[in-house]
Amino acid sequence: MRAVVVPGKQKGYVIQEIPDPIAGKDEVVIKVERAALCYRDLLQLQGYYPRMKYPVVLGHEVVGTIEQVGENVKGFKEGDRVISLLYAPDGTCKYCQIGEEAYCHSRLGYSEELDGFFAEKSKIKATSLVKVNGNVTVEGAVLVPCVTGMIYRSLRRAKLQKGETVLVTGASGGVGIHAIQVAKALGAKVIGVTTSEEKASTIRKFADYVIVGSKFSDEAKKIDDINIVIDTVGTPTIEESLKSLWMGGRLIQIGNVDPSQIYQLRLGYVILKDIEIIGHASATKRDAEETLKLTGEGKISPVIASTIRLDEIDKGYEILKDKRKIGKVLVKP
Ligand SMILES: [Zn+2]
Ligand SMILES: [Zn+2]
Repeated sequence: MRAVVVPGKQKGYVIQEIPDPIAGKDEVVIKVERAALCYRDLLQLQGYYPRMKYPVVLGHEVVGTIEQVGENVKGFKEGDRVISLLYAPDGTCKYCQIGEEAYCHSRLGYSEELDGFFAEKSKIKATSLVKVNGNVTVEGAVLVPCVTGMIYRSLRRAKLQKGETVLVTGASGGVGIHAIQVAKALGAKVIGVTTSEEKASTIRKFADYVIVGSKFSDEAKKIDDINIVIDTVGTPTIEESLKSLWMGGRLIQIGNVDPSQIYQLRLGYVILKDIEIIGHASATKRDAEETLKLTGEGKISPVIASTIRLDEIDKGYEILKDKRKIGKVLVKP
């Protein structure tokens, strides 16, 4: 089968033929229906993920149909549509036992220690699988592990209350445009921040307010007390994100577009304003299931910038990096 393979650290990727995967006892093999491109891929290609084994198949977001089921796998059968968590938990440690498998002691990451999903078929550990019901589209499902379900968990961690105001930076991006929708689905008033008027009209379909520009905190504070900021950008926006927050506010930091940049935090500011900073990256099965339910109810609509084939992966990353695009870039192998 064809796959996008990373041969070594900072060695780029190649599209090549590799053997079809065979399910082990605790695994399934899926036919990949959709995978998704992500900024994390670019950081992995730049060598920022120290746990990557090489060669490794790139890609960590997937939905597919089960083709092979290992003999110890319970609750899944051939033909089931499934998504995978971003990682494989062991299912046995103290965190797994209380449903906090994101903190599993021996978790393995797809596109890190395990092969990822930019391939015609993929092998997935049973502990990573979440079933997708018929009322959720493949586009809605593929967004759950790294986008909508990840955001859902972040708002759970930030204890979002109905009626609170949430500001989202990078509002037109693959994460931002869906973060707005998840926050709305959970009862928040939502402000989207973007850099250009062209993108603002699409964001207005989902957000209650849109602010255009990089200095957004003064305008945001005039709209309402900002209780939560979901910062999907990183060092270019964190200063304004912190300035936007009202007392008791929570900053959910997801974006890290340039990991070489360091941000200097003034402690007095976060102390005197009772601010919480929440670094956030993934979702658990519970988050994925609850987000699939919201998606099936039509509360989250996938916004797809483009769907490419495996052999168009270069073009896919061009679209991902294009600041004019709105939404996620998907792969249909
Ligand atoms: Zn991702
Ligand atoms: Zn565990």
